[in-house]
Amino acid sequence: MNFDYLFNTQLDALKDEGNYRIFAELERQCGAFPKAKCHDDESPDEVTVWCSNDYLGMGQHPKVRAAMQEAIDRCGTGAGGTRNISGTNHEHLLLERELADLHGKEAALLFTSGYVSNWASLSTLGARLPNAVILSDSLNHASMIEGIRHARCQKVIWEHNDPEDLDRKLAALPANATKIVAFESVYSMDGDIAPIREIVEVAEKHGAMTYLDEVHAVGLYGPRGGGVAEREGLMDRITLIEGTLGKAYGCMGGYVTGSAALCDFIRSFASGFIFTTALPPAVAAAARTSIAHLKTSDIERMQQRRQVARLRQMLDQKGIPHLENPSHIIPVMIKDPVKCRMLSDILMREWGIYVQPINYPTVPKGTERLRFTPSPLHTDAEIEHLVEALTVLWKQCAIAHAVA
Ligand SMILES: *Cc1c(COP(=O)(O)O)cnc(C)c1O
Repeated sequence: MNFDYLFNTQLDALKDEGNYRIFAELERQCGAFPKAKCHDDESPDEVTVWCSNDYLGMGQHPKVRAAMQEAIDRCGTGAGGTRNISGTNHEHLLLERELADLHGKEAALLFTSGYVSNWASLSTLGARLPNAVILSDSLNHASMIEGIRHARCQKVIWEHNDPEDLDRKLAALPANATKIVAFESVYSMDGDIAPIREIVEVAEKHGAMTYLDEVHAVGLYGPRGGGVAEREGLMDRITLIEGTLGKAYGCMGGYVTGSAALCDFIRSFASGFIFTTALPPAVAAAARTSIAHLKTSDIERMQQRRQVARLRQMLDQKGIPHLENPSHIIPVMIKDPVKCRMLSDILMREWGIYVQPINYPTVPKGTERLRFTPSPLHTDAEIEHLVEALTVLWKQCAIAHAVA
C-alpha cells in the first residue's frame, strides 16, 4: 500500500496557498549572538537572526552556560526518569522554589515546555473542577486552546483584551459554575498587552479564577523579570501564572505557579506532568541561573528597550509601517502569504537577514507579517542594515501600495 498520495494531496494544497512552512537550517554561534551559521544552499554562510525568542541572548550568557556545564559534570545528561519514578532531581526543586519566589507564590510546578504546561494545566483544571467553565481570550495561544479542548468542559470565548465582554459573559453563567479566565499578558503576534488589572477586577467580581500566560513577558518586564503582572503589582491577585524557560531565559521548559494546593492538584492529576521524563537537571540549573541573574540585572532589559525603540524610530523615518504596541515585538504587516514568504527569502539570500514569515494559521489570513524582535545584542549597525534592506525592498515590491 502507498499512502503517500494522501499526505501529498494535503501538502500540495498548503503549498498552493503559500502556507507551507520551510525551516531555516541554522547553527547558532555561541558568543556571536544574534549571528548564526546558515546551512541553506542559497543563503550566505552567516546570517543575522531577527526573530529569535531568546529575547535577551541569555542562551549564550557565560553564567548560564557555566551552570549547565557544571550540572552536566555533576549529574550527567538526562533526569533518568519521570518525576514520579526516580527522575525528581534536587535541581528541579531548587528551580521550582526560584520560580515560586519570582512570582510571589507558594509553589511552582515544572513541565518539559510551556506548551505542555498550558495543555496539561488547563485540561486538568477544566476536566476536574466541578461545573468548570473556561473563559478564553479569542487570541490565546494554541497550547491553551488545545488544553481547553482536551478538558472537554464548557468553553466561552471572549473578545480579545475586552474586560467588558468578559464581564457580560461571566454574568451569563450559572452561580454554581467554577469559572476560569484564561489569558496572556503579551500577545506575541501583535505585541499588544492585556489590561490585566481590569480583567482581574472583572474576574474577582464574579468569583472567577485567573490563569495568566506570561510566556512572552517573563524575564523582560517587571523589576525582577516577573512579567507584566509584577510590573503592575498584580501577581498576588492572579490565581495561576504560567511561563516558559525557553524564551527570555534562553533554556527550555515551562511552569505554573500558584498556591501550594493548586500546584499539588496539578501535580497529582495532570497526565502531561506525570507520564513524561523530567527535564535534564542541567537544563534546570541553567534556567535557575538565568532567572536569578535577571532578577537583579536590568542591563539586558534596558539595552533591549533601547534597540527596540531604535528600530521603530528608523522604520518610521523610512515610512515602513509597523504595528504600534507597548512591547518588544515589532510586526511589519505584509498581508499576503506569498509576498511574505518572498520577502523573507530575499532578505535571507541577498541581505543575510533572517526573519521567518508569519503566515496562517499562526495569524489570521490577510494579516501575514514579518515579526522582528531586537535584542540587547543587536548592534546599531545591524539595525541600520535591516532598515536599509527593508527600504530597498519596500520600493521594489508592490506591497508598498497594498499596505499604504
Ligand atoms: C511559545 C508559547 C508557549 C509555549 O512555550 P514553549 O516553552 O515554547 O513550549 C505558550 N504560550 C505562548 C503564548 C507562547 O507563545
